[in-house]
Amino acid sequence: MTRDCKPRAGAPVDDADHAAKTGGNTAEAPSSSSPDVGAPFWRVKALSQMSLAEWESLCDGCGLCCLVKLEDEDTGQVYTTDVACTLMDGDSCRCKDYEHRFERVSDCLKIDLAAVANLTWLPATCAYRLVGEGRDLYWWHHLVSGSTETVHEAGVSIRHRTISEDDIDEADLPERITEWGGEG
Ligand code: SF4
Ligand code: SF4
Repeated sequence: MTRDCKPRAGAPVDDADHAAKTGGNTAEAPSSSSPDVGAPFWRVKALSQMSLAEWESLCDGCGLCCLVKLEDEDTGQVYTTDVACTLMDGDSCRCKDYEHRFERVSDCLKIDLAAVANLTWLPATCAYRLVGEGRDLYWWHHLVSGSTETVHEAGVSIRHRTISEDDIDEADLPERITEWGGEG
């Protein structure tokens, strides 16, 4: 019924050509006559219009995309576990080797425009998903609150709520399926 732990995602794009290489952004950019002068970038730009720095700053640091997933082979339904990637730091919720993540973890996926458009399992709270759907960020996002701690304080992140994939038997993965939710 269920199978191995793919897919698993990583973090935002790490190159500057994400907009050129991919497509499928679902957010409509406002017209140039938009009255939102001075509004924060995620409210006035489509994902495809963001600079690399803006794109990377959009990640809320929740760590949810770095959890092992299980896919039902019959239905295609993807379930998220509370088992974290071997490189996930369960305290900071950051990758321990972000620079070399693709070499070290074969199924680490880049979160780019195509991923945002196609990955149905991206959490509902993921900032890329929210902005891609034309929605605003939650109060606990660091770009709103001014603090990278609020994603943890709101209980949205995986901080101290996971076990490493190094510490469990793969056969036990189905028992680790977990409902992650909440908007803070
Ligand atoms: S390698 Fe790093 S970025 Fe990729 S899934 Fe693992 S913890 Fe996340
Ligand atoms: S905001 Fe999205 S890409 Fe960033 S860690 Fe959370 S789920 Fe992953």
